[in-house]
Amino acid sequence: MKRVYNFSAGPAVLPEAVLKQAAEELFIYKNTGMSVMEMSHRSKDFLEIITEAEANLRKLMNVPKNYKILFLQGGAHTQFSMIPLNLMKNKKADFITTGSWAKKALKEAKKYLKTNELASSEDKMFSYIPSFNNLSFDPEADYVHICENNTIYGTKYHELPDTNGVDLVSDMSSCILSEPVDVSKYALIYAGAQKNIGPAGTTIVIIREDLITENYPDYTPLMLQYKTHADKDSMFNTPPTYGIYMCGLVFKHLLDNGGVEAIYEHNKTKAAILYDYLDQSKLFKPTVVKKDRSLMNVTFNTGHDELNKKFIEEAKNQGLVNLKGHRSVGGMRASIYNAMSVEGVQALVDFMKKFEEENSL
Ligand SMILES: *Cc1c(COP(=O)(O)O)cnc(C)c1O
Repeated sequence: MKRVYNFSAGPAVLPEAVLKQAAEELFIYKNTGMSVMEMSHRSKDFLEIITEAEANLRKLMNVPKNYKILFLQGGAHTQFSMIPLNLMKNKKADFITTGSWAKKALKEAKKYLKTNELASSEDKMFSYIPSFNNLSFDPEADYVHICENNTIYGTKYHELPDTNGVDLVSDMSSCILSEPVDVSKYALIYAGAQKNIGPAGTTIVIIREDLITENYPDYTPLMLQYKTHADKDSMFNTPPTYGIYMCGLVFKHLLDNGGVEAIYEHNKTKAAILYDYLDQSKLFKPTVVKKDRSLMNVTFNTGHDELNKKFIEEAKNQGLVNLKGHRSVGGMRASIYNAMSVEGVQALVDFMKKFEEENSL
């Protein structure tokens, strides 16, 4: 069977070259006589895998020396708890709510500290990023939390709020490595691997070292203390070894192909193909404010449930799969992460044009 164009929001498409290399190495990795899955995490070979993965991610994102990179488990959801537990000092934090994930991060933090919702775009179904102009950041807050790319709604922060020196924490699950970022502007960045990096099961945390403390409450589970993992270079317990190996292959692949700068150009090209078509289409309407559009998750709608359904079904028959929007918003969503090709996006737009001709209202 031929591979489809997979527009899934996550777990999502991976680079074909990486999948092929993994397939080649699946049975016997290099000269070890075994699969990476079968290897001790304390072995020299796995140590090389995790060390190289860390070094390559550091290179790709230009991560400063005073930041630690952690490979953890539990997904972005576990970070919703780890962040308040570990970063609390004054026991209050500010939140900007731009979607379900941002809301969940706030809800979880509320168990441990005083949360303040600075702004929300829920009034318009999270179709925009709130203006930062009138936000009064609390100088005493332990951190400000944002969700930088809103996977479900298709919005993205194209600039960062000026928090007046308060530590900025960002959920980058669906935009990490899609464009250059200045890591030094953040206190902590986190991302589940399954959107733009690798298979589900690995969570990336990039944390400024001075935030790795023992300030957490006594009841904090050992596994939810950053210090536990940082002190042992993500090897306190058995890490998600195969996932880390796969992430490492993706990092290497990105580096070999021009790094984040190059993939950013590729991503802009892809997004432009889709948004340019949407902007002139009489049938399909983009659903978010133009200036806040995501390069990774493109949401659109015909405004008619039956027609949406027909589109999703017919697209699927053409090998264009997983275009259904999130159940909370309906319509369509094309996730066009790093590993989605220009050909894939072009094939989608060609099909949308044909569908529009056949279904003009
Ligand atoms: C998918 C996603 C999450 C949830 O990730 P899990 O790894 O399933 O916990 C959180 N935030 C964002 C922005 C996401 O895209």
